Amino acid sequence: MSAPPRSSRPVRGQGQWALGYREPLNPNERMKKDSDGLEVRQRILDIYSKTGFDGIDAGDLRGRMRWMGLYTQRAQGIPGGKTAVLEPEELEDSYFMMRARIDGGQLTSEALRVLGGISTEFGRDVADVTDRQNVQYHWIRIEDVPEIWRRLESVGLSTMEACGDVPRVMLGCPLAGILEDEVLDATDVIAETVAKYVGSPEFSNLPRKWKTSMSGCVDHCTEPEIDDVSFVGVVNEAGEAGYDLWVGGGLSTNPMFAQRIGVFVRPDQVTDVWAACTSVFRDYGYRRQRNRARIKFLMADWGPEKFRQVLQDEYLREALPDGPAPAPAKHDQRDHVGVSKQKDGRNAVGFALRTGRISGSLLTTIADLADEYGQGRIRTTTQQKLVILDVPDERVEDLVEALAAHDLQVRPSAFRRGTMACTGLEFCKLAIVETKQHAQDLYAELEKRLPEFDTPIGINVNGCPNSCARFQTADIGFKGSMVRDDNGEMVEGFQVHLGGHLGVEATFGRKFRGHKVTKAETADYCERLLRGFLERRTPGESFAH
Ligand code: SF4
Repeated sequence: MSAPPRSSRPVRGQGQWALGYREPLNPNERMKKDSDGLEVRQRILDIYSKTGFDGIDAGDLRGRMRWMGLYTQRAQGIPGGKTAVLEPEELEDSYFMMRARIDGGQLTSEALRVLGGISTEFGRDVADVTDRQNVQYHWIRIEDVPEIWRRLESVGLSTMEACGDVPRVMLGCPLAGILEDEVLDATDVIAETVAKYVGSPEFSNLPRKWKTSMSGCVDHCTEPEIDDVSFVGVVNEAGEAGYDLWVGGGLSTNPMFAQRIGVFVRPDQVTDVWAACTSVFRDYGYRRQRNRARIKFLMADWGPEKFRQVLQDEYLREALPDGPAPAPAKHDQRDHVGVSKQKDGRNAVGFALRTGRISGSLLTTIADLADEYGQGRIRTTTQQKLVILDVPDERVEDLVEALAAHDLQVRPSAFRRGTMACTGLEFCKLAIVETKQHAQDLYAELEKRLPEFDTPIGINVNGCPNSCARFQTADIGFKGSMVRDDNGEMVEGFQVHLGGHLGVEATFGRKFRGHKVTKAETADYCERLLRGFLERRTPGESFAH
């Protein structure tokens, strides 16, 4: 798979290994060269879990720990205005955020009970269901990590490569294998790829993070437009189901949409083609500047034709056939909230949390409900939601009620359903603005002010420009920044981006001059905007189009 790349020196190197630029070019590349990120695992088990936080080597603490899903946590009480002026060590406390990867979003009730128990016992009963199908903890002590890993591994989960310059969690449709109309079920190809390559030294030093999705969902719920590499379900002219390969999507400060490579990939080829794409990124990705190290920058320079040629000639050593583009997403809403009929006649029941925030105790309760009303199968979605599978018709409404008793909404308001929030100032060292609570207050306020609003609406609240909650693809995207209030004081607020959406005619939200709001003004701002839409809309018009 990983053919030794040919070497020829470019006019100006960007740190591409394949072109001979092997020397570490920045502190991150130096850190990865000095000791592979995966090596930190043993040091956590043997040393750091015994010495405690103060015994952790600085390179491991703020670098390699990520390879095992651990970030240092923002110290409580440090305002957003301090983020840019304090050193990393001044911003952190002695606890960690820990991310458990849930590839394809697939969980058993037993696994969810373990996830919930870890939060309750080791993470102050706080957990987040993320918009990449993971569960993230806060308040984790390094001393507890070996026991947490032991529990996760007992149910087939791990934190391995949940962060870092590695293959992150692989997204899959939560209803894979469940719905009648899916193009195909990617469950097996995700499992095979994860089993073969996650934790493998072959891909433990990539230029930066590497986000994958594999799905045959007709709603494109894994958002392939903005993943680094995606396998999107298609049916070719011969009637064979397989995948269309997309590469180079990503948000953050330079958002770009993925480009179709134009090949048809059979299911049995997916793992090899994924590994070949990952090898191209590893060898040709730009490592000189960290803010240009995502594959989107390489794709912007190369275009899909050159990517395909290098992929085929240097790595796969075979040509892939041309393939068709996938059908457009069937529905605008990709969250699988509500009741969906399964092909076996039972039902998938998707529900909204409160912008992904939940307690470990409630995760445990959901595991119990999945056993009681279904068959113990639960899924995480890419929109901070959960789905319980296999509910018989006659039990659906009982489950809806049982969930509602815990404020888990199967039929949420448009605002509750469409609002997402990143981790934000509460725990994230990069944050400028608090997000989770603010987003919950915002949707509750909009529910009160606009009870008649019945159109799907995406409101994504982000604590900084890194766009973990995807402000560029929302109808209303809030990007955390310090803004000036009426008294001339700098306070927490947002730059607003409007009109982003994925799918046909995908477009990133635009930043409008003057659309900066303080936190206190966001509900007024949304109300003005949405009332204007309600007054002007034509029958059937959605907010996005
Ligand atoms: Fe942190 Fe910024 Fe990501 Fe929010 S968008 S979780 S504040 S890095």
